[in-house]
Amino acid sequence: MTRIAIVGVAGRMGRTLVNAIEQDAKATLAGGIVEPGSSLAGADIGELAGVGKCGVVAVDSLASIVDDFDVLIDFTAPQVTLGNLAFCAEHGKRIVIGTTGMSDDELAQLDSYRDKVAMVFAPNMSVGVNLTLKLLETAAKALGDEGYDIEIIESHHRHKVDAPSGTAIKMGEVIADSLGRNLKEHGVFERVGQCGPRTDKEIGFATVRAGDIVGEHTVMFATEGERIEITHKASSRMTFAKGAVRAARWVAGKEVGRYDMQDVLGLD
Ligand code: NAD
Repeated sequence: MTRIAIVGVAGRMGRTLVNAIEQDAKATLAGGIVEPGSSLAGADIGELAGVGKCGVVAVDSLASIVDDFDVLIDFTAPQVTLGNLAFCAEHGKRIVIGTTGMSDDELAQLDSYRDKVAMVFAPNMSVGVNLTLKLLETAAKALGDEGYDIEIIESHHRHKVDAPSGTAIKMGEVIADSLGRNLKEHGVFERVGQCGPRTDKEIGFATVRAGDIVGEHTVMFATEGERIEITHKASSRMTFAKGAVRAARWVAGKEVGRYDMQDVLGLD
């Protein structure tokens, strides 16, 4: 049984994670952490998530439950996650990180822990998205250098704070890597005004923010005469939560290292 604690347990993903762990026969809820000073400290996290009392109360300090859990799941914000990563490295805990929107500097800091802690870091924990990454690799290799323009369109709910989504960027990276291109050089994240015609090698991004969209990504490979679209639509956060719990069970038995969902799902 993997004992899992959730940081940001009162958040959208945090509450869904409580639900997913309750449904998982091989994982147990070992703790929930809310923001320091939050009035939700002391609340039963099952009640917080709407699944009924579970006997585990929210705390506002990770240190206070250090002996209770094996793996931490963190879907919060970049600086919070980096602090928790340092804590896990210091205390020999494993961590699953779903937080997106990290800057290059924050990503470098995260990476500096690859030889200090066993972590799974993935901008999208859904099985379907990770399979889609494989399909994109195949499509890019077959089409990318044959005159097909590549565009990535993503849509999310109105509360999302980073853009484009971590998943869209990951899709761009997978495509760029498959084609020997550098996303920093070939990614086009904004088109406005007299921006000129499209270049052959650019990988374009477009972002939609509206209502309650959980997460949709379409990658378009378009040329004269045809267009291929590979689309993934998440209809509930449960897909990310189940993937994260699966990652937590998987990383519980792993040595120190940085892993992603392709490793967890055996897709590499
Ligand atoms: P949210 O704002 O609903 O939840 C974040 C929670 O973190 C909030 O409840 C907040 O109070 C809490 N928090 C902030 N600082 C904290 C601290 N110091 N200690 C404890 N808790 C703290 O956001 P969300 O929609 O749940 O998304 C969270 C992150 O997960 C975002 O970066 C989002 O992009 C990402 N995300 C990733 C995936 C994936 O599959 N990897 C899926 C969905 C969302």
